[in-house]
Order: sequence, then C-alpha cells, then structure tokens
Amino acid sequence: MPDWESVNAETVSRLQAIIRFDTTNPPGNELPLARYLESALTAEGIEVTVLEMEKNRAQVISRIRGSGAARPVILLAHMDVVGVERASWTHDPFAGEVSDGYLYGRGAIDDKGMLAANLMTMLLLKRELSSSGATLSRDVVFVATADEEAGGEYGMGWLVQHHPDLLDAEFALNEGGRTRIIEGGRAYLAVQSAEKVSHIVTVTAHGSAGHAAIPLPDNAIFRLGRALDQLSSYAEPVMLTEITRQFFSRLAEIWPKPEEKKAMIDLVAGDAARMSDGARVLSRVAVFNAVLRNGISPTMIEGGKQFNVIPDSASAVLNVRTLPGQSIGKVVRRMRAIITEPGVKLDVTYRGEEAPASDPGSAMFSAIADAARELDPEMAVVPYLSTGVTDSARLRRLGVKAYGILPFPMAQSDEERMHGNDERVPLDSLHFGTRLIFGAISRIAR
Ligand SMILES: [Zn+2]
Repeated sequence: MPDWESVNAETVSRLQAIIRFDTTNPPGNELPLARYLESALTAEGIEVTVLEMEKNRAQVISRIRGSGAARPVILLAHMDVVGVERASWTHDPFAGEVSDGYLYGRGAIDDKGMLAANLMTMLLLKRELSSSGATLSRDVVFVATADEEAGGEYGMGWLVQHHPDLLDAEFALNEGGRTRIIEGGRAYLAVQSAEKVSHIVTVTAHGSAGHAAIPLPDNAIFRLGRALDQLSSYAEPVMLTEITRQFFSRLAEIWPKPEEKKAMIDLVAGDAARMSDGARVLSRVAVFNAVLRNGISPTMIEGGKQFNVIPDSASAVLNVRTLPGQSIGKVVRRMRAIITEPGVKLDVTYRGEEAPASDPGSAMFSAIADAARELDPEMAVVPYLSTGVTDSARLRRLGVKAYGILPFPMAQSDEERMHGNDERVPLDSLHFGTRLIFGAISRIAR
C-alpha cells in the first residue's frame, strides 16, 4: 500500500505543475505539458511516446506492460482546457493556488485533476511493481489527449485515425461521470456507460422578400417564430434505456427527497401509469429530463441583413441530442408533424455517430464500484447515460468498453464551476479521486 500522506502532497504539487501549463484551446499548445508528463513518467522507468502534431500540439501514450493474460486497460484524460474570463476569477486561473482546502485553476476538475490522478496511478503502480517484483495481468496504458474541448478531431480523433493499434484495449477509464454529494451528505458515483448522440437540425422558414415599408403576412421571420413557438411546447416521448433504468432504480435507494425517490421507483416499476407519473415528476428536474428523452435545444438564429429589407428566409439551428438507438430521422418526422406553419422545412445538417453502450455488468464496472466502496461503504454506484459527448464514444466505436467518471466527490455548486469561473477541486476530493482510480486500475490489472 502506498504511503497516502506523501502521495497526497505529491498529487497536489503535480496538479499545480499541470495547471501552470496554459493549454487553453484554441489554440491548445499541449506540447510543453506533454513533455512534462513524458519526463515524469520516464524518470521512473515507464515507457512513453509523445506524438507530435502540428503547431505545438502533441499527445502522450505511456504503457506499463503486463503479462498479456488479459487485454489492456486505458487511463484517459485530456490536456487542453477551455478559456477563462480572467476578470471574473478571484484566483489566477493558471497558478494552481491552494486556498481554504481547495486547489484553484482552469482544468482543476476538467480534466487536469483526473490527468494528475491518472499520472499518480501510473507512478504508484510502477513503484509498487518495482518493489514487489509482481507483474500485472494486462497493460495499463496512460493516454493524454489534445483538443478534446474543441471536439477532439486533433485529439482522440487523430489517434483513432493514425494509431488505432496503440488504443487496442478491453476497457478504458475516462472523464464523463460524476461523484455527487447530495443532501444529507451521502454521495453517489455515476459511471458513464453510454452517451447521447449530438445532431444539428436546421429549421428554415421561407416567405416573400420585399421592402419593410409594406408588411407581408408571409414574413419569413414571423413564420420562423411561430414554428419555434410550436416546437417549444413539444417534448419527445419518455424512453428508458437499460442504463437509465438501472440509474434511477439504484439512485432511488439513496435519494433524500421523498417525492423524487417515489418517482424513481415508479418510473422503473414496469407499469405504464406509474411510469408516466414518475416521469412527470422527474421531468421537472432539467438534468433528469435530459436523460429521459431526446432533447431539442435551439442555439443559433439567423435571418435578414438590413433593417428595412424583409428577407426571403430565416433559420434557426437546433442541437438535438438523441438517446442511444434512437433515429434522428424519426425525431425530425415527429417535429415536422408538430409544425403546422407553412413554408417551413427541417433538415438534419449534421448527423452524429452512434456508439454502443459499455456493459454495466463488466469486470471494469465492478472494479470501479469496489474501489469506491472501499473508500466510502455508503456510496451508491450507478451506471449513467451522459447528455454530454466525450472521447469515450470514439473508443466505444473501436470496441473498447469505456467508462466515464469524475472521481472527485463534489456538491453540485462546485461541479458547476466546470468551464466557469474559479474552477477548483476540494483537496480531500482530489485525494479520494486518486485513490479511486488507483484502486480501480489495481483491481482490473491485478
Ligand atoms: Zn473534459
């Protein structure tokens, strides 16, 4: 067993070092951070490859070899971060300051905290193997990607395209879930096992063009407004997947609010009337609503060039996120049927790609759950369908069973700082997360 007190201090100083590399994407500039990771790993005799791409960008793949009795497990995190509104921060976002039990900095929880925990896991495993002389049953592969925050095309997308051989694995552990502390102090670990698929649907209204001085009844902007108004009161039907069924039934066991707890039980009871009662209650909570059905969110609007010219068309961009296995074509047909306004058409302008769900009954899922319960016997561990999109979808399409966690127990208020101001990780949570990842990987690679 590692000496956790000294591990904790090392984790903090490594996370500080990692945060001090400004990897705001765009442009990313991940190469200097990749070099830091390379030197930390090689210093302890772990093999590392830095794959350099164009313009100061790079990715890191490092490996501790096992006996080959089982296929590898990947430990994944991304090195890039989103930008900051510096004026709104009370701490320097790139200094890694520690204050009042928190470590502050852009990326502290997305995703540099996990990157530091993954790095520590590699170092601890290697130190343990060196002193015991033991061998792992499978390779543990550390992967640090670029470009995740900009869609991953130059990150995991590039790796899948150029080095799929390096990603050969049975399992992967990535970001994408959460460890949420709820009312009453209990926590649940949501292990992302599937994700929604993101599509773009464009709604375009057509009408007569003309001079604004002569109002026209078929004005395209009015038409678009009426069409969007009709869509705004529409919700896709509730659909339970195997993952969401397990999510709500296990969450019900620890949920503190009686009305929602009952709704979770009703939802999965297998009775149509109870299911719809339960869904009605849970749909009031935006994050639950989002996993119960396909979601439709208008995000951009366009039309007209001049204040005194009626345009002949106006359009809105909708981000439509479908549950796994749902057809975007059928969603658009249902949306089409809701809109009675003439002159309006719907097009799928970007079609997302499906990825299979990762089995919540696998040995990897159990390893995560066992590691979590060793640290907190009260913790509920639930499979989770995320509404956000991660690099895991690309791995799942390669056949890797990828699971997403956010290993740091946090209240919702701290979790909401992700991509926001004063992003921070509680130090105790950072240490919990490092032990969770080390525990899960030690178990699956034993
Ligand atoms: Zn992230």
